[in-house]
Amino acid sequence: MKPALLQIGSFPPEVQAQIDAGFDRIDVRDFERDPSRAGEIRAIVTRSNLEVPAALVERLPKLGIIATNGVGHDLIPLALAARRGIAVSNTPDVLNAAVAELCIGALLALLRQLPQADRYVREGRWPGASFPLTSSLAGKQVGIVGLGRIGKDIARRLEPFGVALAYHGRSDQNLAWRFEADLGALARDADILIVAAPGGAETARMIDAHVLEALGPRGILVNVARGSLVDEEALLAALAEGRIAGAALDVFDREPDIDARFFGLENVLLMPHIGSATRETRAAMAQLMLDNLRSWFGSGRVLTPVPVPEH
Ligand code: NAP
Repeated sequence: MKPALLQIGSFPPEVQAQIDAGFDRIDVRDFERDPSRAGEIRAIVTRSNLEVPAALVERLPKLGIIATNGVGHDLIPLALAARRGIAVSNTPDVLNAAVAELCIGALLALLRQLPQADRYVREGRWPGASFPLTSSLAGKQVGIVGLGRIGKDIARRLEPFGVALAYHGRSDQNLAWRFEADLGALARDADILIVAAPGGAETARMIDAHVLEALGPRGILVNVARGSLVDEEALLAALAEGRIAGAALDVFDREPDIDARFFGLENVLLMPHIGSATRETRAAMAQLMLDNLRSWFGSGRVLTPVPVPEH
């Protein structure tokens, strides 16, 4: 008999076929209508941009594993899982390249105004006047907030562009790049501030009005991490009033129904949370999620566990 698994969110057909081959799938919407099989469910599969409510986990006495497809785990009740001995797995590393590529692509698109340039040509404005001058990436100071797996990949891929790199985190990792313990000082020194730290209570709104003020009217913010890290009210005000130069944003406070005030701003590049969204990367992530599930059911261990929170 296949073990019962609760699924939150949807997966591409080929991934769904593999889930359904190994497990007796119960969709969370069906479960909410009819929770009679709560006592059978041993696994949850989800995507990292969807919430696994603590109240749901509490209703599943036999739950042994939560396997998320993605690296973020800010929407999973980790402390509760740890107390209950529930394994939590994510899909780190296999998405670093895709997120770093998007980050750098978005940064270049914002600096060189590629969406505007495309519109300019399509609208037949080229013969009338030259496209306005834009900004180079070369020679800029880049500050990275959260130099983990993705942050390091971004830093390594940015180096050949001829930028100066520094980073902020909870600890100095003794790397070739300059560590800055003070986030405000990192923003003050930076032309470009890239956010790549995890979401969650500890990092909530860390990019606040003071950090944006320090980044200044020539500064650019790139967020490929989580919307929760940025004070969106402060960001919208800073963008509208030209107190920062621009922002490239893959993530928002409320997704997908983002604050409509973003649509009226020309100095932002808006993306629908597509950091890992390439066919190759999504396939690798799904494979790792499935491997984690199979490993847990086979040996009681997952391959890529999410670290248990300290408190
Ligand atoms: P990671 O390897 O765990 O790295 C996170 C980094 O953030 C670590 O270097 C950590 O360094 C730092 N950090 C943790 N808490 C911090 C704090 N309070 N202040 C400053 N820095 C802090 O994670 P990752 O794999 O690089 O992923 C990073 C995040 O990217 C994920 O959590 C996820 O939310 C996001 N993400 C987004 C997309 C997308 O589609 N846009 C895709 C994948 C991932 P210290 O321990 O030294 O502080």
